[in-house]
Amino acid sequence: MKVRKVPMRRCVGCMESKPKKELIRLVADEGGSLHVDPTGKANGRGVYLCPSSSCFALARKRKAIGRSLEMSFSEEELDRVFGELVQYEKQDS
Ligand SMILES: [Zn+2]
Repeated sequence: MKVRKVPMRRCVGCMESKPKKELIRLVADEGGSLHVDPTGKANGRGVYLCPSSSCFALARKRKAIGRSLEMSFSEEELDRVFGELVQYEKQDS
């Protein structure tokens, strides 16, 4: 039986490593704007978040996305992205 190693990524909210497919990717495009990347395959530099409101809040409070990407995003940009993220949120069990 083949054992496939699960790719892990670190959530920028809670800083825990989780299987990549359980996380939501955010990607910064060439123009420096931030997008939710539901496919996980968009070009650009990405950061990952758990699909939970607590991680969204932590990431925002710590300005973790901009810090991870070494970029700065306006409040308006972050409002838009976090507004989009809500639809990917899963209830904590
Ligand atoms: Zn998390």
